[in-house]
Amino acid sequence: MTASAIPPGLEGPERDIQCPGCGKPCKYGPSNPSRPFCSDRCRNGDFGAWATESYRVAAAQNPVDEQDSEGE
Ligand SMILES: [Zn+2]
Repeated sequence: MTASAIPPGLEGPERDIQCPGCGKPCKYGPSNPSRPFCSDRCRNGDFGAWATESYRVAAAQNPVDEQDSEGE
């Protein structure tokens, strides 16, 4: 299973991530001001809108399922 996205806000060494804009591998770190995109071009692209939305939606999703069975 491969992580498709790194949650923002994680400080530390650079990570290898996939640009949500073009899907190319790029660095997520201080040296990449366009993170999580590979470049400013992708960051300012039209897909930047849905990428940001996806990130927000993904971050807002709660893994806890309401259908919680207390039988176990
Ligand atoms: Zn890109």
